[in-house]
Amino acid sequence: MNSGLIYAGIALLIIVIAVVVVLMLRRRVAAITEQPQVATVDVAPVISDAPDDGLPSDLTDADLSAILEVEIPDAAAGRLHRLRARLARSNNAIGKGLLALLSSGELTDSTWDEVEETLLTADLGVGPTHELIARLRTRVKVEGVTTPEHIKMLLREELLTLVDPTLDRDIMMSVDGRPAVILVVGVNGTGKTTTVGKLARLLIADGQAVVLGAADTFRAAAADQLQTWGDRVGAAVVRGPEGGDPAAVAFDAVRIGAEAGADTVVIDTAGRLHTKTGLMDELGKVKRVVEKQSPVDEVLLVLDATTGQNGLAQARVFRDVVAITGIALTKLDGTARGGIVVAVQRELGVPVKLVGLGEGPDDLALFDPVEFVEALVGDL
Ligand code: GDP
Ligand code: GDP
Ligand code: MG
Repeated sequence: MNSGLIYAGIALLIIVIAVVVVLMLRRRVAAITEQPQVATVDVAPVISDAPDDGLPSDLTDADLSAILEVEIPDAAAGRLHRLRARLARSNNAIGKGLLALLSSGELTDSTWDEVEETLLTADLGVGPTHELIARLRTRVKVEGVTTPEHIKMLLREELLTLVDPTLDRDIMMSVDGRPAVILVVGVNGTGKTTTVGKLARLLIADGQAVVLGAADTFRAAAADQLQTWGDRVGAAVVRGPEGGDPAAVAFDAVRIGAEAGADTVVIDTAGRLHTKTGLMDELGKVKRVVEKQSPVDEVLLVLDATTGQNGLAQARVFRDVVAITGIALTKLDGTARGGIVVAVQRELGVPVKLVGLGEGPDDLALFDPVEFVEALVGDL
């Protein structure tokens, strides 16, 4: 037999053993601390260091303190608020446009043209921009708006309508009797792996047990990068041989997650150019293979907010290959094009659920329409 296969088999066996050990440790820690929600966070070092013959009942105080050294992420709630300054700074193109509207004593046609231009520059998109301006102009006229406070209120209301607070933005996190399965897709360098790592932290902060699938098998470094995130925060990482079949890794991650009683399995995939048909087909296959054993509950498309219209073109192609259920918009800290939130939701008909606001481990927030609009309007 091929020695590569034997090594792969051994690796898989070790992963299965590690996950079983982790599952037992979770119970043990839960019993000790009587805080099962916290205990689920604390398993990573055991996964990395577990001796194959070590039994959970041998757990010593030293083991326990090692367990407790896993990083505890910031709580998920209120993150966007905490990151608001960053968000507001990054969205100052919209801010400037609105400021022009506010500060001009008389609202002339050329003022409105200027507003239109800045909203377009912010990637709000032609349709939404015209819609917003038409509604604002009408309301300014009908309501006889004169004070900056009143205009600000109108802006807040109309922007919120555009961002659409009625969309369901919950990340599918747990499902009765089996782990929720989240597939993360997108073009190279958009921030998939980083987002998977940050998302794992968010879920773990929420008290979940998380298994990550390193289905980016093109580069060993990709799986290492994910492993680093997993180790830091306490998520088991299922990997395959370099150059192996990504569908097989995804399949194994979901199976192992189910066997280990995980709440959520998050699968990282290789970046692919939306113009390469073969790779896009492969992505469809990853999803189909996973679906042989479990529904895929969430397909998150990771989009780099700085890529603007090109990002929208990518989004369309991905949507046609795998049914996207949510968007993770990364690098919103580095762009003045926050309008892309509205544009991409319109384009795909699915909500932005997560936003990346930096490279730090806790710089990922659940998207909140009200907070977002406040960041745009609040400081004017
Ligand atoms: P094909 O290669 O295009 O024919 O696609 P397959 O449906 O055969 O799946 C490709 C890979 O996914 C295989 O090499 C398997 O490793 C994995 N796979 C697919 N279905 C299963 C399954 O039912 N069990 C396991 N363990 N792996 C599967
Ligand atoms: P992948 O190829 O899609 O897996 O992308 P990676 O996760 O490896 O990320 C590519 C680069 O983008 C890395 O340097 C990340 O730190 C960076 N990145 C990811 N998300 C954000 C974000 O929200 N803000 C900033 N400023 N950088 C980010
Ligand atoms: Mg990656």
